[in-house]
This record gives sequence, structure tokens and C-alpha cells, in this order.
Amino acid sequence: MSTLIAATSDVRRKVESGERITSADALWLWKNASDEELRELATMVRARFHEPASCTYMLMRIVNYTNVCVAQCDYCAFYKLPGQEGGYVLSQEAVFAKLDELLELGGDLAAFNGGFNPHLPLSYYCELFAAIRARYGDKLEFYALTIAEFMYLADHAKLSYAETAKRFKDAGVRWITGGGSEILTEDFRKRHSKFKYTVAQYFEAQAAIVASGLKTTATMVIGFDETIAERLEHLERTRAFQDETGGLASFLCWTYKPYFTQIGGIEITTGEYLRHLALSRIYLDNVPRIRTSVLTQNERALEGLLYGADDFDLPIEDEVTQKAGATINLQFEKVLQVARELGFTPEYRHVALGHPPPPSPPVLSGSKSS
Ligand code: SF4
Repeated sequence: MSTLIAATSDVRRKVESGERITSADALWLWKNASDEELRELATMVRARFHEPASCTYMLMRIVNYTNVCVAQCDYCAFYKLPGQEGGYVLSQEAVFAKLDELLELGGDLAAFNGGFNPHLPLSYYCELFAAIRARYGDKLEFYALTIAEFMYLADHAKLSYAETAKRFKDAGVRWITGGGSEILTEDFRKRHSKFKYTVAQYFEAQAAIVASGLKTTATMVIGFDETIAERLEHLERTRAFQDETGGLASFLCWTYKPYFTQIGGIEITTGEYLRHLALSRIYLDNVPRIRTSVLTQNERALEGLLYGADDFDLPIEDEVTQKAGATINLQFEKVLQVARELGFTPEYRHVALGHPPPPSPPVLSGSKSS
């Protein structure tokens, strides 16, 4: 038996039996498995959490409440420095108008994402989120900030992560997403966003969020200059965090948009994105929901359902990625039709109502080894 075939059958045996694959196995798969093999293995793992033809989606909007930011990430085309022309902060009324429009379009999820704005005190956020909860109740759910912004606010207010999480919870917040992670290696941080937080701080904050009873998610962005080893390190840290806390409701990966950014670059292909989605599904054996990014891959993101993903957003706005080249298709039926043509039956997922309920992780022998 050739070495290649032996390695294939060993990794395949692990995935088929539900045994956890190692990072070396994942690297081997990335380098040697065909698209078809990755797709097949990812589909096998997906089927442990979801009915094969099922998938869910949400109609949502990202509310970019301020574009003023001091972090200066070199891959970002969105931010303005304090005092720079074009900087803005949305009033509560402006936010409400965006949320009302979302509800009118049939959506019910908003995700807040802005910058590290030194002029906004914690009270701006707590008052805004309390007002949203009071005005909309359970008609609408919102992801209040990303972990990156959460950390900045905690620092700025000189509060611990635990205390900051409590303040948000008291204001009616239920979710802080895992956004702002990009690639979670210290070296990537130093190369591209040296004023953001370290990877260790990121997980410290996320652990405090989970401990406080808030819900959270994992995210990742690929297509900068990161190495395959860095992508795997990100997945490894995500899986380990999930083992420790069980707090990650989902994993969403999207792709870097290079237009009008300081570092520029070219976009990775959809094929590479799909391979990475499949690898993520196989490797993250403890994360039930793997999400594919319509925002950055448009209709082709739906092919991710064949590569292990089970969920997607239909976004109506995100200035951060749109400024860097993302385009949004508001013809939602057309996008859903793509999913149907691929053999899936998309079902709307109401985050606020918890419907349909999240899938439970399967119990498999040996799935937590190594
Ligand atoms: S990516 Fe976020 S944190 Fe970085 S500069 Fe842009 S707005 Fe600021």
C-alpha cells in the first residue's frame, strides 16, 4: 500500500468513526484530499448534527453604528480616525430606522459592528441596547458588538470583562459575537492589527462572556496573507475553547475583501473557501452549526452547504465589507432558489424565538481524544 493511500484510509477511518482528527491530519487533508473527498467527509460530519437536506438562514442587517476607530487594522477600508472627515456616530433614532426597515423586509436579526471609538462611553451602548430591547422585545434579536469592541469598551471604562458583560446583560443584551477575530494567531495580530488585542486576551474576554450567561459565536476570516498553519492554529484554538466552555453557538468563516484597503491583495477563489469550510466542519467536531458567508461569496456561498455548512445569512447591509468590495443581493428569493436547486430546503431561523432549536452535538466514542 502506498503511503498516500495509507494516510487517506487512516484519516478517513477517523472521520467515519467519529474519532477526532489532529491538526496534522487536517494539514494532510488540506494538502492531499480532492475537493470531492473533502466534500464527502464534511457531509458525513454534517449529518451527525443535521438532516442531510436541511439548512437554515436568517435575514439580517449589520448596523455599523460608528466608523470612528483607533485600531487602524491595515486590512480595513471602513474606519476613520477620530476627527477625520467622514467619521460618524448613529443616533438611537437612526438605529431604530434601520431596525424598522429590517423588520419591514421580513428580517429579525441585527448585528452591531463599529469601531474602537474613544468618544463613545459605555453608557452610549447600554442605553442604546436597553432602548432596543424595550422597543422591540422579542420581535427582533441583536448581536450586540463583537468581542473586539467589547474588549475595547471594557478597557476604556476600566472595568473587568466580567463586569462589562454584566452591564450589557443588565441592558438586555443576550449575544456578543466572536467577531474581530480574523486569524487568531499572535503573529497575525502583530502583522496587521497591532493595536487590537492579543489572542490570549480575546479568549479571556470570550470566557468571561460565556461565564456571564451571554451567548457567543466563533468567527474567522481567511484570504489575507495567513499561512495554512495559521488557519489551523485558529481552528485548533476554537475547538479547544469549545471543549472548555461549550459556549460557541456557531462558527462563521468569511473571506477578506481587499479593495480600498491599505494592504490590498487579491481575493481567494470560492473553491479555496469551500475547501476551508469543509476542513472546518471536519475539524470542529464540537461546533454544531457551521455557517457559510453570502455576504462575501454571494450566491456561490450556497455551495458551502455541500461542503459541511448548514446555515447562512441573507444580509441587507454591512458597510465594513461593502467598503472593501462586498456586494449585496436583495433578491432573497433568488438566493434561496440556489439553495433549493442544490437539493436543500431552507428554513428561516429565528434567533429571538430560538426556532428551530439548535442541534445537539452527537455522542461519539473517542471524539475528544488528542
Ligand atoms: S477592522 Fe474593526 S477594529 Fe480594525 S480598524 Fe476596522 S473598524 Fe477598527
